[in-house]
Amino acid sequence: MMTTHVEDTGELLNATAELTIAGRKISLEMPVPAGPTRLSNLLPFLRYLTDRFVDFSVENAQAEGLAVSCKKGCGACCRQLVPISAIEARRLREVVDQMSEPRKSTILARFEEARPRLQAAGLLEKLREPNRIGDDEVDPIGLAYFQQGIACPFLEDESCSIYEERPLACREYLVVSPAENCARPTVDSIKPVPIVVRVAKTLRALNVEKNPSTPRWVALILALEQAEADAGLDEVPPQPGPALVREIFSRLSGRDAGNG
Ligand code: SF4
Repeated sequence: MMTTHVEDTGELLNATAELTIAGRKISLEMPVPAGPTRLSNLLPFLRYLTDRFVDFSVENAQAEGLAVSCKKGCGACCRQLVPISAIEARRLREVVDQMSEPRKSTILARFEEARPRLQAAGLLEKLREPNRIGDDEVDPIGLAYFQQGIACPFLEDESCSIYEERPLACREYLVVSPAENCARPTVDSIKPVPIVVRVAKTLRALNVEKNPSTPRWVALILALEQAEADAGLDEVPPQPGPALVREIFSRLSGRDAGNG
């Protein structure tokens, strides 16, 4: 069940929502743009939602006696294939562009170094065309990617160096299986925390629906080149912020979020 309310406070709106998931309530409150806006401008809002749903999901897991194994300094999962939205790829491009030297060159070099390794593994062209990857190919490609041992360019000292900017998929990935299993992940050995509402997937789907020319997902390791390829494309025309927020909530809840 979900109810939403949007209160106009000038340039920003205070959007509130109340959900009941499996008998537990979750209240959400966040500022969103009042005027016409684009999906990309709602990234802070989407991150907030993701973090709240992840916290809620972790509490559920703990209530069942499960403990999250992930902790600072463990970056095994940051060698996995991370699917992000094209919007997030563009944001990562901005994040890198805004870095000062020598860090910027170091990060750019890591992205560059990954390319020949992906090419040698026969993965580069596949990952450049995610819309051609069938559902049954995702797991084998993910495994082949992990076997290359390519660390995310933002991974430093086994920690995320862009923690506040990390993509939604990174935020949603937590495990309750032993941490050591993450070094050799299999479908059976990894037990992710079941996330009650998946914002990352919803954003990717909504983005493609609004702009069919966009890839349905982008491999994080190719985010910068994808952002460059998209540079000439504009997003779909802006929509009123409240309408866009209601549409997102409708998608997340699987029903009409109402006008509250
Ligand atoms: S962005 Fe951060 S959390 Fe995500 S894969 Fe890279 S280092 Fe890990």
